[in-house]
Amino acid sequence: MLSSEDQHALLNWYDQHQRDLPWRHTRNPWHILLSEILLQQTQVSRGLVYWTRMVEAFPTVVSMAKAPVDAVLKAWEGAGYYSRARRLHALSQRVMLPSHEGGFDGELPSTYDELLSLPGIGPYTAAAVASIAFGQPVACVDGNIRRVMARTTAQLEPSASAVQAWANGVLVGERAGDWNQALMELGATVCTPKRVKCEVCPISRGCAGKDEPEAYPLPKRQRVKEVVLTAWVELAQDGTLVLTQRPMNGLFAGLWGPIYRDGVAVPDSDHVHCGTVKHALSHRKMTVHVVLLAGRNEPLGVDVNEVAISTLDEKVIALANEHAQASE
Ligand code: SF4
Repeated sequence: MLSSEDQHALLNWYDQHQRDLPWRHTRNPWHILLSEILLQQTQVSRGLVYWTRMVEAFPTVVSMAKAPVDAVLKAWEGAGYYSRARRLHALSQRVMLPSHEGGFDGELPSTYDELLSLPGIGPYTAAAVASIAFGQPVACVDGNIRRVMARTTAQLEPSASAVQAWANGVLVGERAGDWNQALMELGATVCTPKRVKCEVCPISRGCAGKDEPEAYPLPKRQRVKEVVLTAWVELAQDGTLVLTQRPMNGLFAGLWGPIYRDGVAVPDSDHVHCGTVKHALSHRKMTVHVVLLAGRNEPLGVDVNEVAISTLDEKVIALANEHAQASE
């Protein structure tokens, strides 16, 4: 456990050294919720770009609820993990429902349990929004906090419940939002996975792991699956591409792109093999063979600027377009 001196020192450090991020200048719960959902699987530098874009496109929960899900996916384009955008849209519609239908009459709820009941909101986001936007005394747990806990208590593999119990125990309830952010900020900038900066750490005095910080915690084993696919890219007679919208579940759900098939295409006279595109997702390494179909059967295609497309498909389309232009 951290001493009250440590708690004081960490909050002081946070007050002086926190990164200047726009969502830290607002108490608008919707804007804070957007930042928390974006930052779950996106680096802060990229999160900044997408947060600004989302706040401009959907400044209120009402504005998102009124928009079609395709508009939300378009604004989210490039941020990855598109299920977050779809769930955010579902969340906004749920918030707009009257309370007798399970909604919140257009106002984001303020308690942990109510937030947790919304689509796409897990324990971390519920605790972050409840504490940061509404000052509720609830403790967050994320990867940064787990690392700080493992090191300060010198535990190699702390269980999820042990980390939560530690976070609950060290929480400074009267500044819960700042406290949660201070712990996460420490993990993101000082108590980092590698090149740990114990020499500037405000809580080093009582830290049990500081002599060998990188030994804690043991890295989680992650299996990465290798996937080989072929993207069949077809030009329409109007010069645009024939794209289809993917189903609303599965990889890149709801986004637009060419048709994919498992495995490598066998070359024949009806298509040109343009090359391969490599793309990494958190648990998948993808190699996509890009094939451009000969002939233009469809009269009209899709304007890629008008629909939401994954970063992988942007690379696939760029490669296919290069070949199409070279052969004209
Ligand atoms: S002293 Fe080092 S290992 Fe301990 S919490 Fe601070 S940065 Fe992390």
